[in-house]
Amino acid sequence: MDNHDIDIIAERIIEKILDHRPIPIEASGRHVHLCQKDLESLFGAGYSLTKKKELSQPGQFQSNEKVMLIGPKGVIKNVSILGPVRVHTQVEVSKTDAVALGIQAPVRESGDLKGSGSLFIVAQNSIIKADESVIVAKRHIHMTPFDAKLYRVKNGDIVKVKIEGERSLIFDDVVIRVSDKYKAAMHIDFDEANACCYLKGMNAKLIR
Ligand SMILES: [Zn+2]
Repeated sequence: MDNHDIDIIAERIIEKILDHRPIPIEASGRHVHLCQKDLESLFGAGYSLTKKKELSQPGQFQSNEKVMLIGPKGVIKNVSILGPVRVHTQVEVSKTDAVALGIQAPVRESGDLKGSGSLFIVAQNSIIKADESVIVAKRHIHMTPFDAKLYRVKNGDIVKVKIEGERSLIFDDVVIRVSDKYKAAMHIDFDEANACCYLKGMNAKLIR
């Protein structure tokens, strides 16, 4: 057996392992992350978010609290706040939402807010202006370092992902995000979910 044969066998073994480690696709609805200062401006001094349900990424949760988003052209009610609080307030909407609100929202990775969109956030009787806070989240895959090794990708890599189903689609420009704090999952927004007729239980297939 030469090295080439060993490579072929290794490749087949990795394929088999990957068959049993699918990357589930999750469609994220519009949501808000608040900094502590903005949370207190909206809900009162010393306020803490209350947990409604855990999300797939360890430590992240959907809260019971809701806000309303206001742009020059429209309003979106009942928007979820995700916890825990962050250093900067960040509003994630779809392109469809941005058009309805009448605001600019660039496609960005989480945390990259310079020059991003602005809107008003309302809760109960308070309102704040959230400048440079609104983005359309760039589609991405969360992975552990072990999964990254199996898929032979690294943090920041851009890959293509095939979605198989009623409206089969290949997404390009999917960012790989690697951390030992993550759990494998691909995140798309509702526009992307509708574009591929997303159904719960679909998995991401990386293609080269
Ligand atoms: Zn994500």
